[in-house]
Amino acid sequence: MKVARSIAEYAALRDPAQGRIAFVPTMGALHNGHRSLIRLARSRSDLVVVSIFVNPLQFGPDEDYARYPRPLEVDLESCEAEGVDIAFVPSVTDLYPPGRQITVSAGALGSVLEGTSRPGHFDGVLTVVLKLLNIIRPDVAVFGQKDIQQLACIQRMVVDLNVPVEVLGAPIVRDPDGLALSSRNVFLSAPERSLALSLSTALEKAATQTSVPAARMAAYEILDRAADDPAFVLDYATLVNPTTFAELPDDYTGPAILAMAAHVGRTRLIDNTILTFA
Ligand code: AMP
Repeated sequence: MKVARSIAEYAALRDPAQGRIAFVPTMGALHNGHRSLIRLARSRSDLVVVSIFVNPLQFGPDEDYARYPRPLEVDLESCEAEGVDIAFVPSVTDLYPPGRQITVSAGALGSVLEGTSRPGHFDGVLTVVLKLLNIIRPDVAVFGQKDIQQLACIQRMVVDLNVPVEVLGAPIVRDPDGLALSSRNVFLSAPERSLALSLSTALEKAATQTSVPAARMAAYEILDRAADDPAFVLDYATLVNPTTFAELPDDYTGPAILAMAAHVGRTRLIDNTILTFA
């Protein structure tokens, strides 16, 4: 595996003659969710590029940018073990040199749910993703459904800005008890971890319901119980249209997303599931 520590180093390594390039952007602290994306990328290409970059632009001022885990050497070993061809690990100043002004605006899709709780988050995500796509120039880029609103914003950007890349979504990888894997799970104490399971339990329960009101009620029953513990503070749990992310009316039929976010102790977690109402 080659490691490109700057844009210039990557440009020198990039060799389209080697075939189709698949790209997996990450913020590092790699887990089996990231590994599943890398394997999907591998199955769809000849050359796999993984970026590891904790993007300051997508964190709010009171968020966990400074303490976000950065086990770079372990991550590079994981990439090597997964057969990654190039790991791209740029510095903040390389990606964001002084004087920059232009950013991508995520629009309406980026202003609901996560966008309401984290103003500017998706502008930061789309700006770095577009920059990375322009630097890496992959044929295909893989993103996880764990961040389903992010995936929707990226798909929208690729269409709206004619970005020449195929975007693939990969299913959520969970621990055996149901907790969605996340780089932030390392922050959870044992009692916080069991509280955090309320998210996946609520999603599972809601997914067995046949109407919007029933799914909503099933989820809230579990989430309200979790909120009896002051360490669990629900941010949102909302049933939305998978294309617009607008909240669903009670009589809605068709595909839906139940998306949720909660603070568990000092850690903010998100999770979601796709369901269908007949
Ligand atoms: P992150 O490093 O958290 O920015 O995530 C990098 C990519 O991995 C994103 O496309 C995420 O959606 C994806 N990802 C993170 N956690 C999971 C998971 N548990 N299952 C599948 N994909 C995931």
